[in-house]
Amino acid sequence: MNEKDFINLIRLCVKCGGCKTQCPTFLSRREETETARGRVKLLHALVEGKVKPTKKFNERLRSCLLCGSCANHCPLNIDLMEVFYHARTIIRDHDTTMAITGFLSKIAFKNTDLTINMIKPFQKLINNRLAKRKLMPANVQFTENQFKKTGIFMAKNKIGRVAIFSGCTIKHIYPELMFSAARVFNALRYEVVFPTSEVCCGVPFRSLGMEATAITYAERNYETFSKLKVDAIISLCPTCVVSLKKHYPALIGNGLENVYDISDFLRGKIDMDSIDSSGGPRRKTVNLRAVFHEPCHQRNELKNGSQTRELINTLRRQQHDTADPFDIELLEPNRQSCCGFGGAFSVFFSDMSNQILGETVKELDKTNAEAVITTCPNCIFQLSKAIQDKPIYHLIEIIEEAITPQA
Ligand code: SF4
Ligand code: SF4
Repeated sequence: MNEKDFINLIRLCVKCGGCKTQCPTFLSRREETETARGRVKLLHALVEGKVKPTKKFNERLRSCLLCGSCANHCPLNIDLMEVFYHARTIIRDHDTTMAITGFLSKIAFKNTDLTINMIKPFQKLINNRLAKRKLMPANVQFTENQFKKTGIFMAKNKIGRVAIFSGCTIKHIYPELMFSAARVFNALRYEVVFPTSEVCCGVPFRSLGMEATAITYAERNYETFSKLKVDAIISLCPTCVVSLKKHYPALIGNGLENVYDISDFLRGKIDMDSIDSSGGPRRKTVNLRAVFHEPCHQRNELKNGSQTRELINTLRRQQHDTADPFDIELLEPNRQSCCGFGGAFSVFFSDMSNQILGETVKELDKTNAEAVITTCPNCIFQLSKAIQDKPIYHLIEIIEEAITPQA
């Protein structure tokens, strides 16, 4: 975004406060400068030369989760996410924390397998320290990319071919979800491709104001994925979907057009009857009371949470009368709210991040659910810091449980 567009966008704000009541940082701190309106006012003052990007000023802009709730509630549809991403490019040169974190992130992401191998000998120590400070869940194991060369999973009687954009959290923390996805798509008769040259989607760099680095990563992913002859590119992470679909056109002038969130792609594609006849028995009877945690980028940007609910209920209804029923009672918290992750936010503002997490977990607990279902690996990571008494499933695991035959 150029400076003129940025100024025009922030001038659109009429200070109505519609963005305030759902803002997680405002709900946590109850301060005007922790709302989108407050942050826009600060930016206004900055471009008019009335304030300088001091440490405190920068903190107010960094202490935003980039969750999208404000943009979703703004009656003027101001693209507040682009405003806040651009603001970070402005403050970055005046913010030591961002500069140092950006420098380290650039090294770490350059070769993630090398980074993981370097920290592996100290993993237990790092885990203990970070878990104690509530910066990450206990027992997280970082793993190298499972695919040293492009992974291809062939399907019997194939009807199509899809590529999976795994995303860094799944690739390096929850790789079992990639195999879950492969089994699900194979069961639906899609061949599955995992390109080994996939890199970070770029969001972590944008959130640190490193637009040029984000562009480099976007170009690399575009180069990789646009060449694949696939019907769809599917991600199991709403943030990656938003990045590939919405950010890339603005960053590199080219969006990957056939990108889908898992709930969007699978809508209407699961015919349990045909799977039953070809797939054999269920792995086990499932009878679960689970609460749905809807990730911010799904709720505020993709706006397809109803499709996830519909998908789960479809699995449930279609098998209700079989010998091995798959039955999920899908519960809702009183209010869907942010898990408090926000990438670097959870490190820079760990107290606020854990407070937001605590409030969200309280609401999930009130449902007395036996499990949590969500669609985002980063939410799983964050929720695991506070939820130890019940499993947290990614949607793909639930689908796999419902449609794949006994192993
Ligand atoms: S809802 Fe939109 S117009 Fe109203 S204060 Fe917030 S950003 Fe400004
Ligand atoms: S993106 Fe989220 S945290 Fe940031 S101002 Fe908007 S609602 Fe608040």
